[in-house]
Amino acid sequence: MHSDDEDLATLSAATIAVAAGRPPREPDAPLNFPLTPASVFVAGGDREYGRYSNPSWEPFEEVLGRLEGGRALAFSSGLAVVAAIIDLVSPGEVVVAPRHAYLGTLQQLATKEQRGQLKVRMVDVSDTAAVLDACEDAALVWLESPTNPALEVADIPAVVDGAHEAGARVVVDNTFATPLLQRPLTLGADIVMHSATKYLAGHSDAVLGAAVTTDDATFAALDGQRRLLGSIPGTLETWLAVRGMRTLHLRVERAQQNARTLLPRLESHRAVDQVRYPGFGGIIAIEVRGGAPAADLLTRSTRLWVHATSLGGVESTFERRRRWQSEQATIPENLVRMSVGVEDVEDLWADLSRALDGLAHA
Ligand SMILES: *Cc1c(COP(=O)(O)O)cnc(C)c1O
Repeated sequence: MHSDDEDLATLSAATIAVAAGRPPREPDAPLNFPLTPASVFVAGGDREYGRYSNPSWEPFEEVLGRLEGGRALAFSSGLAVVAAIIDLVSPGEVVVAPRHAYLGTLQQLATKEQRGQLKVRMVDVSDTAAVLDACEDAALVWLESPTNPALEVADIPAVVDGAHEAGARVVVDNTFATPLLQRPLTLGADIVMHSATKYLAGHSDAVLGAAVTTDDATFAALDGQRRLLGSIPGTLETWLAVRGMRTLHLRVERAQQNARTLLPRLESHRAVDQVRYPGFGGIIAIEVRGGAPAADLLTRSTRLWVHATSLGGVESTFERRRRWQSEQATIPENLVRMSVGVEDVEDLWADLSRALDGLAHA
């Protein structure tokens, strides 16, 4: 912890993103922490071995921890975090989970359920009454909000109240919202998780995950899992993520502004049947008139928008989700998830509207 800790506590998120996790200010010190590739440290200190700790992880954990309002742990990927959290559930216990969520999360839960290791109750996270009903006897309530790719939004404070009353812990996958738009720990959630691969790193060049919590026992348990399972982050990945997070507030703001500009234009375009937007953030889902073939044609018809999975990078990407065999059957065949980037919005619209116009005439 640094001497300027208390100063940072009163600062806004934008300033924390820029100022937190810096080396101490001393003459000739670098402004950024150097990358430390190291598998082993001289004995007698706290580090010892590269699977226990690395100085390159800590700036990332410090910036994210401050932004979310807890203590952060970096993991090798978002799914490594999912695995570490699910592992906290004891045999036979019940997990309440979103019917629409990141596929890997649902697959991990389904695999564990098939092996008889836990029981899953699927809910529509936007149906608060249904979620609260499902909380009875549950050990863990898994929220993703907004959900991937249906963009359903959960009432986090209401679910937290009900879950805690039932004795269940609440995890929120905050990947889509980022701590700039939603801070689940301040709403009472027990753990926040991120695929830092997406908005936090933000440049489509690193795979990384993180868990954040205010509870010391949970922190210790997850830290123990990370050591034991070896699901540690790469040093370059955390370094890149810190570099990315220095502009997180600018990127999220711009992506959201671009998304809001595109929204009414998409809604009134004749090639678009339906538009989903959770009210905040940079992700939009559209249903393209003409079914899967039209949606596939759209993803092949742009020059700027890149047809690619994943999201949250500076560049605008989009994808027909049902091209994945494993995507939920309740997701429409013609749904295209759009991750709006930080380019000039008129250039984005020119590219997109030309491709959409092409569908309308096809
Ligand atoms: C991508 C993603 C994950 C998985 O993270 P990885 O870094 O790809 O392992 C989990 N949750 C959400 C919402 C995601 O978008």
